Amino acid sequence: MQILNGKEAAQAIKDSLKIKVAQLASQGKEVPHLAAILVGNNGASETYVAAKVKACEEVGFKSTLIRAEENITAQKLLETIRELNSDPDVDGILVQLPLPKHISEDEVINAIDPGKDVDGFHPSNVGRMVLGQSTFVPATPYGIMLLLEHYKVETKGKHAVVIGRSNIVGRPMSILLSGNSNPGNCTVTLCHSHTPNLKELCLEADIIVAALGRAEFVTAHMVKDGAVVIDVGITRVEDATKKSGFKLKGDVAYDEVAPKCSFITPVPGGVGPMTIAALMKNTFKSCAQKHYEEAEGE
Ligand code: NAD
Repeated sequence: MQILNGKEAAQAIKDSLKIKVAQLASQGKEVPHLAAILVGNNGASETYVAAKVKACEEVGFKSTLIRAEENITAQKLLETIRELNSDPDVDGILVQLPLPKHISEDEVINAIDPGKDVDGFHPSNVGRMVLGQSTFVPATPYGIMLLLEHYKVETKGKHAVVIGRSNIVGRPMSILLSGNSNPGNCTVTLCHSHTPNLKELCLEADIIVAALGRAEFVTAHMVKDGAVVIDVGITRVEDATKKSGFKLKGDVAYDEVAPKCSFITPVPGGVGPMTIAALMKNTFKSCAQKHYEEAEGE
């Protein structure tokens, strides 16, 4: 069994970006600039946004964190997005999800300039991804593809079972794994809450991507020997021994599943850091496309 160490792979990506950014800066050129909008003060969202801002600092990007009150109106939020859209200094815009109930996430996503949509959630970017065209691929599935690539995990001809069909993880993951690419070329089964025979499907899988958000849902009796298991889930589970009062659990019962796997991602330290590295790559790509015609980006 080999651990797919997301921390290590993400560091390699960030190190390579850092060198490119330092080169740009030394030539007096624009360095990438990510603007993040955080609405309210949801604990998990605060942590994710802080990690993104920290990663920007690490690689030498500029970053701007815009905080808004929980009760911000949709109109005001859309106005902020429009300002960022027209600001030539901003390369990437992300709005941390989830948003408060009174704001339509679709409306917000649709308002972001697709050329700055480094989360890759805008319909035109999703469309480009489906067609296999150059685009901003959503950070979590993109990070998983980069992790598979980093560890040279063979995916061609394999049966991949993706559990969860959200627009930000499961569905794009299923599209990328089924694409004519490397990694890719899998036969994909996309499972969700209405899939009746999940256990049987998982037992047939060479690759399982668990992205449903239920702690330790995937157990050893659902996984065949030699499978590759990618655990996307992050659930806060109460733990009085921790200072924070909780610990993070993945969607996979790691201790019992890991011995059966050829490769497995840990939680934390697997998909999470790769998501952030992928976001950094998308932001660099946006900057490169805008400012340096000759650059292909990342
Ligand atoms: P979501 O709630 O939007 O979607 C969950 C999906 O799982 C749904 O499609 C639902 O149909 C499916 N599902 C729920 N229960 C199921 C069941 N019993 N059997 C089969 N399918 C079931 O969640 P999301 O935004 O896709 O996130 C999933 C998990 O991944 C969460 O724990 C989230 O915190 C985590 N996440 C992690 C990262 C990261 O960087 N590591 C990024 C995004 C999300």
